[in-house]
Amino acid sequence: MDYSFTDEQMMLRDTIARFMETEATREVIEEIEKANEFPHALVDKLSELGFMGINVPEEYGGQAGTVIDEMILFEQIAKRLPVLAWAAGNVILYGNNIINTNGNQEQKEKFLPLLVEGKLKFCFALTEANVGSDAAQLQTKAELKDGRYVINGAKMFITGAGIADYVVTNARTGGPGMDGITAFLVPGSAAGYSASPINNLGHKGSNTCAVTYQDVEAGPEDILGGPEQINQGWRQMMRLLNSERLVLSSCAIGIAQAALDYALAYAKERVQFGRPIGRFQAIQNKLVNMATEVEAARRLAYYAGWMEVNHMPCVKETSMAKLYSAEVAKRCAMDCVQILWGYGYAMEYDAQRFLRDSLVYSIGGGTSEIQMNIIAKQMGL
Ligand SMILES: Cc1cc2nc3c(=O)[nH]c(=O)nc-3n(C[C@H](O)[C@H](O)[C@H](O)COP(=O)(O)OP(=O)(O)OC[C@H]3O[C@@H](n4cnc5c(N)ncnc54)[C@H](O)[C@@H]3O)c2cc1C
Repeated sequence: MDYSFTDEQMMLRDTIARFMETEATREVIEEIEKANEFPHALVDKLSELGFMGINVPEEYGGQAGTVIDEMILFEQIAKRLPVLAWAAGNVILYGNNIINTNGNQEQKEKFLPLLVEGKLKFCFALTEANVGSDAAQLQTKAELKDGRYVINGAKMFITGAGIADYVVTNARTGGPGMDGITAFLVPGSAAGYSASPINNLGHKGSNTCAVTYQDVEAGPEDILGGPEQINQGWRQMMRLLNSERLVLSSCAIGIAQAALDYALAYAKERVQFGRPIGRFQAIQNKLVNMATEVEAARRLAYYAGWMEVNHMPCVKETSMAKLYSAEVAKRCAMDCVQILWGYGYAMEYDAQRFLRDSLVYSIGGGTSEIQMNIIAKQMGL
């Protein structure tokens, strides 16, 4: 079985890795961390180089890549600066993927060329204060009045909600549960919409927000996929779950690899008892476990990506990839901190950032416990 990268994919990997080394310098990363502000300048540079069209059909100006190309891109970005991967996600995942998969012809023509050019950003608003893992119970309402929908409610933890030009807003238009949900394309500038950033432990600058909708108006034409997609929001979301889990896996793998590289370099240089600490078996064992787990996580994720690209059923494999790579990222980041210890605990060193950034991959896109539930169900339990 051959699922190795093509020449183009290797070129993509090397190009984005070089870009990240040149543009996301230590100073730039520190500035973003300190200011805790969305990395607009770097996103613009990614757009200028054409990366935002990676998964958009050629007829709309993109490169028509697969989810494996997305994973390659996201892994390399996250290896250096995970928040930039999320910021790119505000175009590539929440814009391109959502519109290309679920938009109607008019919406594709309207949005995709602008997304490719980096002129638009989207975010995806599902979670609410009282509705996390059990998202089908969401309470934000869209009521039809005189031919227009009026949206009222609140969302929580919405990444990019304060900078997005369009907010894919999941609101209740029908009965309880998953069959009564509709996705609306709400402009970020809409009257009655507001977003305020939450100060999170990691991914500083992600602009993850608490959001409120107060009598926000939307027309039937603003429904994702058009008026006939009323109450189809849940089904639309299901079509995107595999690719979301795969891209999140690749970000977690990027962080795990960065933690491994950092700890390995440190272990070769730090001298105690007259020798580099990498010569002590206790440290070697940690590094060997980290390297093995990163390799295993990457293979699992890209194998699941290969299944997705080849239209094979892969809910179980994408959930396994997400679960495993998230847990590996946390373990590698923690081991990295421990290999540096005193310096691992100091804010001036990157180890603490890997740890802070790693944690969220067990939360977003379905927690690790929820991934386990999905896998158990796939196993017939
Ligand atoms: C930084 C960040 C960015 C985010 N970005 C977005 C975004 O852009 N858009 C969006 O819509 N949401 C976003 N989220 C929300 C994220 O998807 C939710 O936080 C996540 O789904 C979990 O919900 P919760 O935090 O409310 O936890 P809860 O659902 O309250 O869970 C709490 C604990 O209980 C466990 N648990 C819950 N139900 C079960 C069960 N059935 N079986 C076993 N264990 C269970 C969970 O695993 C967890 O450990 C983001 C969150 C964060 C932290």
